[in-house]
Amino acid sequence: MERVAGKVAIVSGAASGIGAACARLLAEEGAKVLLVDLNDAAGAQVVAEIEAKGGVAAYAHHDVTDEASWIDQMANIKAMFGGLNIAVNCAGTSVTKLTYPTDQTLEEWHRINRINLDGTFLATKHELKLMQETTPVVGSIINISSVLGIVGQPGIAAYNASKGGVRLYSKSVALSCAKERVNVRVNTIHPGFIHTPLLEQSIIRYGDVEEGRKFYDNLQPIGRLGQPEDIAMGALYLASDEAKFVTGAELVIDGGYTAQ
Ligand code: NAD
Repeated sequence: MERVAGKVAIVSGAASGIGAACARLLAEEGAKVLLVDLNDAAGAQVVAEIEAKGGVAAYAHHDVTDEASWIDQMANIKAMFGGLNIAVNCAGTSVTKLTYPTDQTLEEWHRINRINLDGTFLATKHELKLMQETTPVVGSIINISSVLGIVGQPGIAAYNASKGGVRLYSKSVALSCAKERVNVRVNTIHPGFIHTPLLEQSIIRYGDVEEGRKFYDNLQPIGRLGQPEDIAMGALYLASDEAKFVTGAELVIDGGYTAQ
């Protein structure tokens, strides 16, 4: 099946975890994909895997917090593939340790929010601009929030705030596009705990790695962690025309975590 055939996509944070899985699946389903990340070696590796399977992809070094670089990447994708239809904004970071609110430093607060929230704002702003200039205008922006953008967790206030911000920012942009009759849909995905290098760090910080794995598996009512591909399947749906009536929505993919 080629559910996004003929479309052009950008995926940030595409060198690893959820972003890499989204880039692979979009390419497999017919999109031309620009992967951007800070980790050049891993990004080039994902592109090589996509190309080996007959997909079309390219990689560029890009920091999502740098507005000038967003402008460059939009020019880059326009020159390479002619426009933009799909964006999966996946680049993100998490806290390095649990912090009680009165111990939270402004520096760490800014570090998390700069990447997760400012990065999503800059992405959405410049992607929307290029989608509007693409003929015909058929766009889907997918911002990766988290279940922790819906429910709180002690000790990670900066992450909670950044992901909650991504959730409501995306709804506002969706409504602006709808109001102006711009054919760009904007939605969020809220992954639960997904087995990626980002989560592996939390497992290692737990102390005993085996115990850490069990702890994270047991957080889900279905008794196991999610895989990056579980999130990529949701991104593919939102990216495709099958979701043409879906905008301003939040797709929770979490093994039941927030159903409790
Ligand atoms: P990951 O660490 O495997 O991948 C994140 C990627 O983002 C890395 O390749 C990293 O180099 C890149 N990145 C970080 N800062 C960047 C920047 N400034 N500019 C460009 N690229 C940058 O993590 P993941 O688990 O795949 O997470 C992807 C997204 O999903 C994040 O936004 C994360 O918050 C979110 N998420 C993850 C989980 C989970 O359990 N893994 C759960 C909910 C939400």
